[in-house]
Amino acid sequence: MSYESRVFSELSFPSRDEVIRVLLPLLLKHKGRVKEFGSGDQEFADDIADEFNLSAKQRTFELETIVQKDSRLKKSPAWNRLLFRAADLAAKQGLLARPTSTLRLTGRREWMLTERGIDEALQLARVPIGEKDKIPVVTFEVQKFQSKLEKAEPPKNYNPIDTTKKVKAVSSESLLRNRGFRLAVLGAYDYRCSVCGLKISSPDSLTWEVEAAHIVPHRFYGRDDIWNGISLCRFHHWCFDVGWFTLRLDFTIELSSSFESVSAELGYMGSLDVFRGSLIDKQKIALPKRKSIFPHGNSISWHRENVFGHKV
Ligand SMILES: [Zn+2]
Repeated sequence: MSYESRVFSELSFPSRDEVIRVLLPLLLKHKGRVKEFGSGDQEFADDIADEFNLSAKQRTFELETIVQKDSRLKKSPAWNRLLFRAADLAAKQGLLARPTSTLRLTGRREWMLTERGIDEALQLARVPIGEKDKIPVVTFEVQKFQSKLEKAEPPKNYNPIDTTKKVKAVSSESLLRNRGFRLAVLGAYDYRCSVCGLKISSPDSLTWEVEAAHIVPHRFYGRDDIWNGISLCRFHHWCFDVGWFTLRLDFTIELSSSFESVSAELGYMGSLDVFRGSLIDKQKIALPKRKSIFPHGNSISWHRENVFGHKV
């Protein structure tokens, strides 16, 4: 038995598999990523230690190793070493991406959930798999997809309709694209409704209320990319889809001609006139920081023409 294994055993540490079962669900609350253990970010290591009710000795015991090069004695916390071993095992099982891979992708050395890892984490946290799309955890694969999307320049002859979508079966690639679309749009708009600014998460901080709306809807084969997306709260998503408002090409709101004739008692939440109070003609919506990922004029034109009946 190696010196390290002997120390782990003497300290009665949990097994690597037991640590993985706590580590994965905890990552859901940390955006799916954690810095290398031992890099100074102790909070995460402490949270896992809390889950196992570790004693002060278990938390602080240090491994002593001799550095070959200069025969120097190096001390490092045994608990962090075990966390590294567990993460390393999870990476071998395809549940985490290693810091060496994330460094190339994001410039940061982190352990990061993979798509397989998030599925496993959801199962361990007892979150229904159907909720996966709502959880703003950027997995390694989604990050790859987003990095490509975010660096891209808006296409010149952009067609917001993807005619090949009709014939493509639902594949793992299209599911990934869908999640990538959602997270790219919501991230770009800071998880706020671009019309009313509403930003609110679930009590467990896992999901956001806001939705990534397709400007050309999914059922018309609207593309899953940032130029066909806009971030809207559920109420404004509905208002947009049914045509209570559209956008002008300068990103201001244009109201339906039926707006003025809505019955006076409708549209209230208690005494708050949510309908008229939040939809204001000529008001500009909130947009992402970078102009190159604003909604594309061709997507907006499609909405104006097909939902509003404006000839463009
Ligand atoms: Zn809203």
